[in-house]
Amino acid sequence: MRRRSELDAAKTDLNRIRSERDQYRRGAADAIEALERLRAAFDALPLGVVIVDVNGNEQLRNEEAARLVDARHTDALAARALSDVLVEATSGETGRVIELHGPPPRTLSLAGAPLISASGRVGTVAVVQDVTERYRLDAVRRDFVANVSHELRTPIGAIVALADTLAAEDAETEVEIMRRLAARIAHEADRAGHLIDDLLDLSRIEGGELQREEVPVRHLVTGAVDRVVVSAGVRSSDISVEGDLPQTTLLVDASQVEGALVNLIENAIKYSDPGAPVFVSATDDGDRVELVVRDRGIGIPPGDRDRIFERFYRVDRARSRVTGGTGLGLAIVRNVARNHGGDVHLDSREGEGSTFVIHLPRASTGQTAKENS
Ligand code: ADP
Repeated sequence: MRRRSELDAAKTDLNRIRSERDQYRRGAADAIEALERLRAAFDALPLGVVIVDVNGNEQLRNEEAARLVDARHTDALAARALSDVLVEATSGETGRVIELHGPPPRTLSLAGAPLISASGRVGTVAVVQDVTERYRLDAVRRDFVANVSHELRTPIGAIVALADTLAAEDAETEVEIMRRLAARIAHEADRAGHLIDDLLDLSRIEGGELQREEVPVRHLVTGAVDRVVVSAGVRSSDISVEGDLPQTTLLVDASQVEGALVNLIENAIKYSDPGAPVFVSATDDGDRVELVVRDRGIGIPPGDRDRIFERFYRVDRARSRVTGGTGLGLAIVRNVARNHGGDVHLDSREGEGSTFVIHLPRASTGQTAKENS
């Protein structure tokens, strides 16, 4: 009898042990799954993460960290910076930004912090981020603001100086002198206004929004030529439309495309001798329409051809000042072309002239400026 009850008790113990074992197994499996989930989540992060324990032994390096720091071409600098940050982080939050020469050149930001749990410090973590694009955009923005300030300071400085001169004149001063000073003030104010108009145009066009309408290519060309004849006061005979204009229509933002052509024609006039001919033409090869503006002006040196489409870039600053250019015209033209899924090309010979061609796809992709930048 006693034996039987002992046997029962042993059986019960065994069952309990079995159930506890199953519970532990389930717990262990759950813990492993949770760890794997965590690991996958770390690998999905767009940030590099490296974790070490209190003895400095590495416990985790996610995929992004491996990509950023262990890449074949990465300088030893990145690996060194990472281990320095992990050591420094044992005594508090730390960080630095490093430049890698590449290729390709990159800027990495590293930040480190101690990992503290309820029982105290359990290790350190470092986060690595590729900030190349952010730093580049910051530099572009800083440059842009500096350029705008510089460009505005010139006419505004002149207005202040001229106004001071005017204010200092007395009743004896000839009216003619007063008039000349006032006219120069008006001229400088025009320049500042022109720059602000171009900046507003550029920012609207860079926004990429298009008011598309079906418009005959013919109208775009003749509309642009008429606008220049009226605004620039040039003789219409100086600008000739070459060849037959295609009968094609395009689904484009007509005011943007016409404005881009106006910019090119005005440049062709500005950078040619007075009275020199300017030729405007258009062709349609079935897939795309080409709008062409050709001049026999001063031409553009080879070294400047890639850069003239940048904002504020001018080959000859002094000449641009005389002609009243803002340095934004070609940046606007390129943005307009790209907004329509096209581009602008340049062919030029110094001393002989330049040809600018805007390519516009017939089936425009509707690509936006943002996608291009
Ligand atoms: P700007 O207001 O100075 O004309 P753009 O952006 O329109 O600015 O042009 C940038 C620079 O490109 C000009 O300053 C000039 O040096 C050069 N450029 C543009 N168009 C021509 C052209 N048709 N012939 C010669 N140089 C040109």
